[in-house]
Amino acid sequence: MPNVWRPYCQMQTAKLPRTVVSTEGNCLVLEDGTRLVDGISCWWTTCHGHRHPHMISAVEQQLHVMPHVMLGGLTHPQVERLAERIAKICPGDLDHVFFSDSGSVAVEVAMKMAVQFWINQGVRGRDRFLSFVDSYHGDTTGAMSICDPNDGMHAHFKGFLLEQYPRAIPVSEEEFAEFEHFVLQNTECLAGIVIEPLVQAAGGLRFHTPQQLKRIEFIARAHNLLLICDEVATGFGRTGKMFASEIADVVPDIMCIGKGMSGGMLGIAATVARRHVFDAFQSQRDEDALMHGPTFMGNPMACAAANASLDLFENEPRLNQVAEIAATCLRKLEPLRGAPHVRDVRVLGAFAVVEVECVLDQDYWMTFFVERGVWLRPTRDVFYIAPPFTIQAAELDTLCDAVVEAVHRLESHLKTF
Ligand SMILES: *Cc1c(COP(=O)(O)O)cnc(C)c1O
Repeated sequence: MPNVWRPYCQMQTAKLPRTVVSTEGNCLVLEDGTRLVDGISCWWTTCHGHRHPHMISAVEQQLHVMPHVMLGGLTHPQVERLAERIAKICPGDLDHVFFSDSGSVAVEVAMKMAVQFWINQGVRGRDRFLSFVDSYHGDTTGAMSICDPNDGMHAHFKGFLLEQYPRAIPVSEEEFAEFEHFVLQNTECLAGIVIEPLVQAAGGLRFHTPQQLKRIEFIARAHNLLLICDEVATGFGRTGKMFASEIADVVPDIMCIGKGMSGGMLGIAATVARRHVFDAFQSQRDEDALMHGPTFMGNPMACAAANASLDLFENEPRLNQVAEIAATCLRKLEPLRGAPHVRDVRVLGAFAVVEVECVLDQDYWMTFFVERGVWLRPTRDVFYIAPPFTIQAAELDTLCDAVVEAVHRLESHLKTF
């Protein structure tokens, strides 16, 4: 019996995982020497590829100076520098950075921050969130409560989770009117609106337009709700700008970041608040303080990795690379539109998606892709590519060709069911 209990996995029936012995550039190297092009940047984290020398030397240096120190009552140069740089690159006055070690915790902190924002101002009962169908915000309890309500992932926990206010992202004028009406009816119990800006990632890689996001922001402002943008998946260049909110010219009140933040080196995340949110916690009373503090928050090695990652965004042409990835994926995948069982093809930055008409058997397709020298892991009803931004043209071709072949294979595969 295995000792490692693996993620999202029926351990009795799942295929054994492949063992990776090293990583190199944009590839994973398996035990038998097979090299797989990492088509999903290890869950959208490795934006500079694996083992970038600048990343390695930054973390190595930090390792010898100070691998860890607690942040309660102490601080250190790496965390101060990182907070300052994050404040600088985040839109508007998103200047106050609360560090944590995973995206789920960053979301928990955002929810807690939003609820206490109202409490500290003497407003009672505003402790629920409007969230969206197809969203994914993490696997901790608070985060689960604002994920897609019908998602199989968290279905067992309905009675255990807080009841929230999930809605479909409005598209038409009528839907927006209905949405605003719903907001209006529930303002006394809502602390805020939580959205993954432009790309709902793990919930099926659904996209919405900057205009839709902008209107949701407008409605949040009109009815005095906090807007929380969960940029854990979209942040750090994935959608073509540093943050997806920027594309829509949106400045959320609270922003969650994670995944790509350390360039895929170490776990680090953060909840970033605007000035007025931060100010609601300033007073002479201890009980107005934010009572949160993950043990490893602001870990110096993780901060060193995040700082090194920001150096690379400054010194290497990452966002141009993302634009090139988008152009290549669109050229290679767009011809699949109209193919049997294909429902949609969509590309934004370094997220390229082919949505099909059925739920995909993940084990089957992972094996299919490994046989073709690529590491891709379809989710729900989508094949998708989310490569490191440093991906080479030939590697990206291999990834796209594998997806094209998979879609053509889909028809005969479906017949065997
Ligand atoms: C992955 C993800 C999370 C959770 O992050 P973890 O680091 O896995 O806890 C939260 N929100 C979004 C949008 C994500 O994609």
